[in-house]
Amino acid sequence: MKIARLVFNPIQENTYIVWDDTLQAAIIDAGNMGERENEILDKFLSDRGLKPVLAINTHGHFDHLLGVNHLVERYGVKFALSSKDEFLLKTASVSAELFGVRAGDLPEKIDIDMEGMPSIKFGDTELKIISTPGHTPGHVALYNPEAKVLFTGDTLFRESIGRTDLPGGDYSWIMRSIIDNILPLGDDVRIYPGHGEDSTIGHESMYNPFVVEVLNDEVNYKN
Ligand SMILES: [Zn+2]
Repeated sequence: MKIARLVFNPIQENTYIVWDDTLQAAIIDAGNMGERENEILDKFLSDRGLKPVLAINTHGHFDHLLGVNHLVERYGVKFALSSKDEFLLKTASVSAELFGVRAGDLPEKIDIDMEGMPSIKFGDTELKIISTPGHTPGHVALYNPEAKVLFTGDTLFRESIGRTDLPGGDYSWIMRSIIDNILPLGDDVRIYPGHGEDSTIGHESMYNPFVVEVLNDEVNYKN
């Protein structure tokens, strides 16, 4: 499995291109916005002979959605998101405006509802779907056990966590997601977040202040 990261849009969102020897590719959190960024993504794909088949979203925030319609229209990819985040699609354009971003066309419906699905496949690659609510109600992380790689979206960042003050966010839930569903995957698993640099679960257990204060029983996150 090969992974590349392109950073797009004014929110500096990480768009991941994931592919294997079949040259089928999934785009995780396509944040490309406007013609210039669409061209950067298209060129990346065509230079490597990749065929995108899926636009997989960890969650429904606008900065992770900006490039989905381009992929659907140009390549006919299927758009995968948890239906628990479908409500965010309706307000995505307005949310973008609040951040000063003119979003253009955003997806209005989900092709593949990942809620309750165990995994999603493309080419010879399978990504396990791990429910990680808290940043949004339908947030998922995507895990490839063979490569020991986890796409954490806006749940877990290098030495930080996602916001929980936006609609549908919940601090207790995001910490449960991290402590119960992410940390047990193992210290050597590499994480690829929705913003910022990659890391490992081991590094986050040691140096992420939000994780450390919970592991040290300094805050009660279960309320
Ligand atoms: Zn987000």
